[in-house]
Amino acid sequence: MTSAHILVLGAGPAGAAVALGLNRLGYRVSVVSEWRRFEAVEGISQRVLDGLYHAGLRRAADSAAAPSAREVYWNGTRQTLNTEFLLDRRAFDHALRQDLQAAGIAVIEAKVRTLVSDTQGHQVQLDGPDGTGMIAADFLVEARGRLAPLSGKGLRGPETLGLLNTWQGAPGPHGSAVESMEDGWVWMARLADGRCYWQLTLDVASAELPGKDQLAGFCATRRTSALVLDFFGAHAQQKAAVHARTSTATLCLETSGGNWLRVGDAAMAVDPLSGNGIFQSLSSALQAPAVIHTLLTRPDRVQLAQRFHQRRIEHLFHRFARIGRDFYAMEQRWAERPFWQARRTWPDQQPIHVASGFEQLRVEKAPVINGDEIDEADVVVSPDQPLGIWHLQGVELAPIVQALQQGPGTDVLNTLAPEQRHMLRGWLLAQGYR
Ligand code: FAD
Repeated sequence: MTSAHILVLGAGPAGAAVALGLNRLGYRVSVVSEWRRFEAVEGISQRVLDGLYHAGLRRAADSAAAPSAREVYWNGTRQTLNTEFLLDRRAFDHALRQDLQAAGIAVIEAKVRTLVSDTQGHQVQLDGPDGTGMIAADFLVEARGRLAPLSGKGLRGPETLGLLNTWQGAPGPHGSAVESMEDGWVWMARLADGRCYWQLTLDVASAELPGKDQLAGFCATRRTSALVLDFFGAHAQQKAAVHARTSTATLCLETSGGNWLRVGDAAMAVDPLSGNGIFQSLSSALQAPAVIHTLLTRPDRVQLAQRFHQRRIEHLFHRFARIGRDFYAMEQRWAERPFWQARRTWPDQQPIHVASGFEQLRVEKAPVINGDEIDEADVVVSPDQPLGIWHLQGVELAPIVQALQQGPGTDVLNTLAPEQRHMLRGWLLAQGYR
């Protein structure tokens, strides 16, 4: 293990998950973060909760409310869909810091003012109650979310603005709802203590927005749909505080260097419609400790580790962008309106899943996570799995696919334990192997 000091900028889910992972590998890690400046509520799925526990963020996961129904009014149809877990972001962010502190990781409450970096290390100027002055680090993890300064080239989706309205209603059952509109869509949530959230998402290029001092009035005139009145009842029209923020999808095309790495929203931020922001931020953060460990200890694998991180970030980004696109395309009442037109075709026309036959499977060398490091291995690649699969429940796939492609009648599966054979047969059938 090296004695490198790793500094993580930002204590959101991504920064917290990376810091815990590096701590487990024995690195000296500190986290610098300021608090979010506004109240927010977000919805996550069971899969994200599982991911938080898996990352060691137990207190953060426990801060989620019990599952509640999500009403969806989209394309003229109203239905109650899968359950969702509401996160009061202030409580969630507090719990993330508690998880870090419980693991013995120093969390410095401060704003990062400036950052000077070269190949030898980083000098970060801080400003805050816990620290003013400079802090030095050998390796830097950029996890300041959407507030991270952009670096290098990037890709942006249609410019999108979120207008978050918050107010206090009466205590009652918690829940959430989504509603499409001619010029955008709305997500609304109610917490058990009566706090109400209504967030309007608009297209920056085509929205007819008033000046800043008129925003609250503008939002109040929009908070009048039948669903809003049902959902918030007598409190729907109460005076609200308004916070405007960008929710444009962004992808960074350079997410690492020899001594730095971007994770979470700082690497790629998805459209909130996908409801997968925290999922993607955890995904990039969970792979990061192995990438960083490789960058620090295996000079011969620096490019491999960087390629691994970048390919996975870009793959996740396109997957969620296409999920969002297909959901936008389901709203057909205003397909020609600028908001919907711009989003129903972005980022491309490629389907989320590409059907392929067994003969299209290829074996290629690709970067993989092997224990705590990035390694290179033979993986099975298909049009639907361009990053390749190395193992399936502990079984290495490449030798099996290669043997079966050489001709039928091979007994390669017979060497496996019965349950592995059964699982492999199921996978092969799904790939079109007969
Ligand atoms: P963040 O959670 O943003 O954490 C970054 C941290 O860095 C923050 O604590 C911040 O205060 C700190 N920081 C920033 N700048 C500095 C600085 N200069 N100095 C020190 N500290 C700094 N995701 C979901 O899963 N479900 C949802 O319902 C959902 N709704 C969303 C709605 C909107 C409108 C938006 C914009 C996003 C939504 N998301 C949602 C996405 C989700 O919020 C993010 O994907 C997730 O929080 C990203 O995690 P992160 O750790 O990368 O960054």
